[in-house]
Amino acid sequence: MHSIHDKLAIEEIRKRLRIEPGHVRRLRNAFYKKQETPAEALEQLPAPQRRIFGSEVAFHFLTCHSRHDSQLDGASKLLYRTASGQMIESVILRIASGRTSLCVSSQAGCAVGCCFCATGQLGMARSLTHHEILDQVIQANRALGAEGRSIRNVVFMGMGEPMLNETEVYKALNVLLSPQCFDLSPAKILVSTVGIPDAMVRCAERFPRLGMALSLHSARQAQRERLIPLARRYPLARLRKAMEHVTSIQRRPLMVEYLLLAGLNDTDQDLSELLCYLRGLRVHVNLIPYNVIANATGLIGTAAERRCWFAARLTEAGFTATVRYSLGADIAAACGQLARLETAPA
Ligand code: SAH
Ligand code: SF4
Repeated sequence: MHSIHDKLAIEEIRKRLRIEPGHVRRLRNAFYKKQETPAEALEQLPAPQRRIFGSEVAFHFLTCHSRHDSQLDGASKLLYRTASGQMIESVILRIASGRTSLCVSSQAGCAVGCCFCATGQLGMARSLTHHEILDQVIQANRALGAEGRSIRNVVFMGMGEPMLNETEVYKALNVLLSPQCFDLSPAKILVSTVGIPDAMVRCAERFPRLGMALSLHSARQAQRERLIPLARRYPLARLRKAMEHVTSIQRRPLMVEYLLLAGLNDTDQDLSELLCYLRGLRVHVNLIPYNVIANATGLIGTAAERRCWFAARLTEAGFTATVRYSLGADIAAACGQLARLETAPA
């Protein structure tokens, strides 16, 4: 079985079945852009070849397990099962302005093991194929079609570390950007990484107009290691060099994500070291309120007042800083949490 996302294989099938290029173009248009089902999209092919093409090409790679709509705001969580049995999730974010974003997973679980993250608690990681990454976009887009909406932004902020699954993430990005497929603008895609310096540079070189976010969370080495075990391997000095390199390639500022945890990374000293670390870099700081997760005793989110104070000090120092507004608190609590519950043995 071949995948609809594999251009070379589709071209080989097209030639073999003597299908006109225009027919495949219309099929892609129907499938990727018009949110049509595989059966509907296949109608773009001449009847004699339709059945064989349909039997040789797979359009879906995940089974939708359940959907959870927030009663508070415009978030919906889609829980999927992979063919090998892992649960992964995507989150649809309907933003008040009318924009619709999708947060996708790049791995089932995550080996980085950050102490504040539900996905990290799963421990193990299985990297998703680009077919599985793309199917999250296809299935969410189809669900949105019923509401007259479509996905405009894709953020790699779901389960997993995208820079530990570079090959498949890059293949997925190529299909998202391809004019014949989703045709998204690179400015509408954001890849969030825990900070793997060489991979960040490779990604920026390959996709210079893509948005990139770095989960910094602390500018103090010992503290960062406590939050993110992988920080031991990639010390802050090395990360800073990668940030310089990335910002010299990319036109838009690098987003720095900073999860605020009471007493752990929100003290006056944390702030002054952060200001010092970021000085001279073109970055946008996004302060993230902590979503409480199970089994993470001792972690308390920084109070709203202190979060605003932090943002104000960053702005005074000349950085753009925003406090993230979190959607879907009732359905999700934190990314990875639903999948973690479903994956846990009964
Ligand atoms: N592995 C990547 C992308 C997935 S996590 C990364 O770490 O950047 C996406 C974002 O969610 C990261 O900034 C991460 O720090 C944040 N996050 C994880 N757990 C969280 C929690 N419990 N509350 C708030 N944000 C969390
Ligand atoms: Fe992995 Fe990102 Fe979660 Fe850390 S925050 S465990 S890198 S998914």
